[in-house]
Amino acid sequence: MYKAILNTVFFLFLTCGFVFSQNSDVYILLKAGHFYNSEKNAFLENQEVLIKNDKVVKVGTQLTIPPNTEVLDFGNATIVPGLIDAHSHILMEQKVDEPLAVDAMMVSSEARVLRAVKFAKSYLESGFTTIRDLGNSGQYLDLEVRKAIKNGYITGPRMLASGPIIGSMDGQIDGIPLADFDRISRQEYSMVSGVEEARKAVREHIARGVDVIKILAVGNRLVLSLDEMKAIVETAHSERIPVTAHCDRDWAAQNAIEAGVDGIEHAYGFKKATLEKMASKGIYVVPTYGSTETIRAYYEQQKLPYTEDDLENNAASWKKWIRELKEAGVTIVAGSDAYVNLEMDRGDYAKQTIWGYADAGLSPEDVLQTATVNAAIALGMKDQIGVIRENSLADIVVFEGDMKADIKKSLYNVKMVMKNGVVEWSK
Ligand SMILES: [Zn+2]
Repeated sequence: MYKAILNTVFFLFLTCGFVFSQNSDVYILLKAGHFYNSEKNAFLENQEVLIKNDKVVKVGTQLTIPPNTEVLDFGNATIVPGLIDAHSHILMEQKVDEPLAVDAMMVSSEARVLRAVKFAKSYLESGFTTIRDLGNSGQYLDLEVRKAIKNGYITGPRMLASGPIIGSMDGQIDGIPLADFDRISRQEYSMVSGVEEARKAVREHIARGVDVIKILAVGNRLVLSLDEMKAIVETAHSERIPVTAHCDRDWAAQNAIEAGVDGIEHAYGFKKATLEKMASKGIYVVPTYGSTETIRAYYEQQKLPYTEDDLENNAASWKKWIRELKEAGVTIVAGSDAYVNLEMDRGDYAKQTIWGYADAGLSPEDVLQTATVNAAIALGMKDQIGVIRENSLADIVVFEGDMKADIKKSLYNVKMVMKNGVVEWSK
């Protein structure tokens, strides 16, 4: 009897499930005057995007529209693949005049996660539909936030995460009493010594579910040896997990490149020959550059006097560097490294990086490519995100106005954000 009831319930469930799936297809058609095609790196006019559930079905003009399609016409706006920040730190916030250790020492894990809820929402509403979070997230708090977003408990962008950054025995925290150094460094980093510990750390990260391994090519004083880096890259790649290296010294980059990392974060002051070597090996750079506005925010926070010329002079060497990266032919991937409290919404702050690339002289097409298709490839999500094409995920942002004509103005005027085919935010 009991089994019969169960069978009936199961049958009803199947029937209802069938009926439900027959009627649950949601079609949306997006229309706008301008459209950025990230693969062609070109703006097109008057394109339509047909979406079914979480995927793009078709892109073109005068598409055949199925019945019950919701049409969203954005007039003179620009349709762009959802932006990607390849270098976020949503479990971290540091005051401009505080050392790196303060947040990790003074803020509980619970409070860091609750704060990350706010940052995740801000990212999404600013037009970022994916972020790659690169550490300084305690012991795997990033994976908890990633799960909460995926399960729909909180609103946020699709999130990829690295878990603790793997480095030599000194991490990146200094200036704290030795009695606390070991405890805080072990909380924030995965510190290894020797090839076997390096392999074990990678395996532990992968077992926990990270999407990427981040290493410190150079920490406070110590560097990972070439053999350690090779072991990390070999172990990660054997499990199809990419490796990116924090590196801000040209000399330290040489071993990371030889070890076979997939990307390098920051890359400040690298020599032309190093950049060209990276270009020839297909190693991308994430130039975590800000903008004159982030420099202004810094001056304001510090209550320092400044002129517009001061901002421009400060930014000049950064802008020149972005142009040098472009000239060297290296693949540029947008990443903000936003973690300082500049009294801006986190998403707006992260977008200053993209604004800064435009300010440095990159064309609107090249700027958008860094935050769409280039970033998608770096994240191992080619053809799924960073593009709007048949069968890609429907991660789409609509910006006000003609973005090609004035990218800096459009970037801060978001009209609609869609993730997985769902309108998550609109104005
Ligand atoms: Zn960083």
